[in-house]
Amino acid sequence: MNNEWDFNLEEELHEECGVFGMYDFDGCDVSSTIYYGLFALQHRGQESCGIAVSETEGPKGKVNAHKGMGLCNEVFTPEILENLRGNIGVGHVRYSTAGSSTRENAQPLVLNYLKGTLAMAHNGNLVNAPELRRELEYNGAIFQTTIDSEVIAYHIARERVKAATVEAAVANAMKKIQGAYSLVIMSPRKMIGVRDPYGFKPLCIGKRDNAYILVSESCALDTIGAEFVRDVRPGEIVTITKEGIVSDTSLCPEDKSKEARCIFEYIYFARPDSVFDGVSVYHSRVWAGRALALDSPVEADLVVGVPESGNAAALGYSLQSGIPYGTAFVKNSYVGRTFIKPKQSNRESSVRIKLNVLREAVMGRRVIMIDDSIVRGTTSALIVNMLREAGAKEVHVRISSPPFLHPCYFGTDIPNEEQLIAHNRTIEEIRKVLGADSLSYLKLERLNEMAEGLPICNACFSGNYPIEPPKEDIRGEHSE
Ligand code: SF4
Repeated sequence: MNNEWDFNLEEELHEECGVFGMYDFDGCDVSSTIYYGLFALQHRGQESCGIAVSETEGPKGKVNAHKGMGLCNEVFTPEILENLRGNIGVGHVRYSTAGSSTRENAQPLVLNYLKGTLAMAHNGNLVNAPELRRELEYNGAIFQTTIDSEVIAYHIARERVKAATVEAAVANAMKKIQGAYSLVIMSPRKMIGVRDPYGFKPLCIGKRDNAYILVSESCALDTIGAEFVRDVRPGEIVTITKEGIVSDTSLCPEDKSKEARCIFEYIYFARPDSVFDGVSVYHSRVWAGRALALDSPVEADLVVGVPESGNAAALGYSLQSGIPYGTAFVKNSYVGRTFIKPKQSNRESSVRIKLNVLREAVMGRRVIMIDDSIVRGTTSALIVNMLREAGAKEVHVRISSPPFLHPCYFGTDIPNEEQLIAHNRTIEEIRKVLGADSLSYLKLERLNEMAEGLPICNACFSGNYPIEPPKEDIRGEHSE
């Protein structure tokens, strides 16, 4: 299973979004830096993107925004960025899991209300968005979009009328909204970062010269030459003003075991060069590979990773087992979002177009193939077959996560249970479907070790949801 940058177009899973905010105290324009930051977050969403900027010294409420469907380099031109003038801004890349894929649903959301203008970027999914939305609509609210993020923005705007500050309004809104949310909010004179009390999605603080940054993943800080300051804590509200950073931890859970970071960030979503809550994504993947080698050893000649997200785990397996690590696949990196998928009847397949096997590497050898997860299994079966066609003597499949058994309500588009290959099948039955000589998954209990003991969400594997799942299926609830 891989994302847009990888080969797998049939059964890719998607992260919902990436967020980026920047406030330059020296008054320098931030839009081009936000653009490069979003570029580094592109793996988190490829359907739409946008940037909203403002001047903290200018008239309150004057926000310049540009958003559209497509990748960052399709939506923005040098001229557009040149016209986005402002020293404070937020940016967003999006993939839709709740709410349809339309330009109206692109973010940041810009909201004019009694006290000025708010711009907001959201990563995650609320579990109580439909109820909150209905309640607001009964009270006369008119929504411009079909996304749950607008429900959050509405609540903040409504609370702001009563609250003394925008951060107090955010805190009041947080008491009503439930689910996964990492937010970056721009008010006329402040930038605010928020992480839900479970800490499902990452959010960290960076600094470059006299500017502060709030961003989903630390890799984007490296891209723009900023230093990592720290992660925003689960439940924390961070307010960045010229006077400095103010932290409100009143909604942080006292009992840290209640936190529930999405373990799938470590397994697959986040870039390996990111560090999430002090744990290197790369190290966690290498560790998963080591754990697989410890728990599911097999005699073989070569360990290979399915690019890109299987590579680090393959290295870990190799290091632990002593079996050489090698490259078995050559990837065509030019298959983008607008790639025309071959028809089912065609001889070509998306997988073959994106990926080819290095015959010389696998011919006559016993190969251990490592991938990060299996969703429906169609792609894995094809790759196993491709290895065999290229002359591999044996193909042993090792998966660096447990079997997917349950849907996610917090922002990942895991399909319904019936479509998951592991649903109602034994490992042996799955092995047969894949056509592999052996098959093993990472043990559930190893996930905690992957996150170095941090409290995690593993509901899609275990069914233990940190928040009661909604009674109605909210996933895609507002889709057309
Ligand atoms: S259910 Fe799975 S994908 Fe969803 S937040 Fe939990 S670990 Fe992440």
